[in-house]
This record gives sequence, C-alpha cells and structure tokens, in this order.
Amino acid sequence: MLVILSGVAGAGKDTIKKEIIKRMENVKSIPSYTSRPPREGDVPGQTYIFLSKEEFEEKIKNDEFLEYTIYNGNYYGTLKSEIVDNLKKGKNVILEIEIEGALNVKKLVPEAIFIFILPPTMKELLNRLKNRGTENNEKIIARFKTAYREINEISKYNYVVVNDDLKEAVANIEAILKSEKLRVDRIEDIEIGNAEELIHEFLLPDKEMKNKEDLI
Ligand code: 5GP
Repeated sequence: MLVILSGVAGAGKDTIKKEIIKRMENVKSIPSYTSRPPREGDVPGQTYIFLSKEEFEEKIKNDEFLEYTIYNGNYYGTLKSEIVDNLKKGKNVILEIEIEGALNVKKLVPEAIFIFILPPTMKELLNRLKNRGTENNEKIIARFKTAYREINEISKYNYVVVNDDLKEAVANIEAILKSEKLRVDRIEDIEIGNAEELIHEFLLPDKEMKNKEDLI
C-alpha cells in the first residue's frame, strides 16, 4: 500500500509519520530528495537526500521522479524506483509530501491512501510555526499563507486527521491503515481450498453415511 501524508506546515506530519513507522510493522518511509539546504535536526540520507539545484534538475531530465514540486523556492521529490521496489517487496510505503505533489501522485496511483493532517486551530498552527524557531518572521508568514491555501484542497483526500493529541492522531492513522488493508479490493488471493468438493463427495448416495450427526 502506498500512503500519502500531507498537511500544512506545523500540523505535525513528520512526528506522526515517525510514530507510525515505530508502531506499525511493514510500514516504511523513503527519504525524499530536496534542493533546500539542511536545517537543524536534518540528518542527510534520513530526513532528506540533499542535492544541488543542478543535480535535482538532472534527475528531472532523466524522468527519475514519481512526482516533484517546487515548494517555497526549493525542489522536493520522490524517486519512482525506490517506491516501486519497496511496494514490490510487499512493504507499505508512507510518504510525507505537500499537496501539489500528493495530487500528482493521485493521478498516477489513484488507489494510494491520501491522509490530510490538520492542526487543531489556525492559532495553534501559528504558535507551532513560531515555536519551531528554525525560520524568520517572513518565512513564518509565507508558510501561514500557504497553509490557508492548502486547506482548501482537503476534499481531494480520503481521510482527515486532526493532530490535537499526538497519541490520538497516531491511533487514528493506525486504524485507517488497518481498515484499508482489510478492504476486499486490496486482497489479491483468497484461499478457499476444495472443501466444497469434499462435502459433495461425502454426500454421494453410494457412500455409506454411518453417522449423520457428523454432518451437523
Ligand atoms: P520541509 O522543508 O519543511 O522539510 O518540507 C516542506 C514541504 O515539502 C512539506 O510540506 C513536505 O511535506 C514537503 N515534501 C517533502 N518531501 C517531498 C516530496 O518528495 N515531494 C513533495 N511534493 N513534497 C515534499
């Protein structure tokens, strides 16, 4: 299963994603590529794979991305090959990507699960953006404006999860993924065996049925 987590900056997507990976077996995150410079807390190769603008553009030219976008002036993208390899191995892949990228994935992989994470209120969102302490005021305002625009796209997602209480938000996403796994259209093989044949054989008139009770 391919799971797409989106939501406005400061909604807590990243923390939620990490918790889901910790708690759910077989759910894997694949680092995105970006041309933005590393921030405090970034671990190259883990949070992102950092490329120069030119390196990123080379990969675009070679059609290596499943999707990519420019967000706040920087490139972000996910590699096709890494996702396909993991899905083929039966892994559930979770991607945390912004809305435009998510909607591009939807065109290519409509059966993916699209989850939108919301902050409890816009005021709380502003507080979270300020408390991050990683960006200046101008950038915080830009992110806040983007957030308003992005929330309008929510109806294109399959699920919405409000991140007021982290534990509850994570539990809700776990519930979504568990239910999705049980959907009939996701089940590839159902083993029904040949029990029906056996019963017919057992009921044939020339077979002696000593214990009718056995059938009950
Ligand atoms: P940040 O710079 O704060 O780490 O991320 C900025 C935005 O880029 C976030 O909304 C994040 O979800 C999004 N993002 C991260 N990786 C990708 C990606 O591979 N593709 C797209 N489209 N967006 C991404």
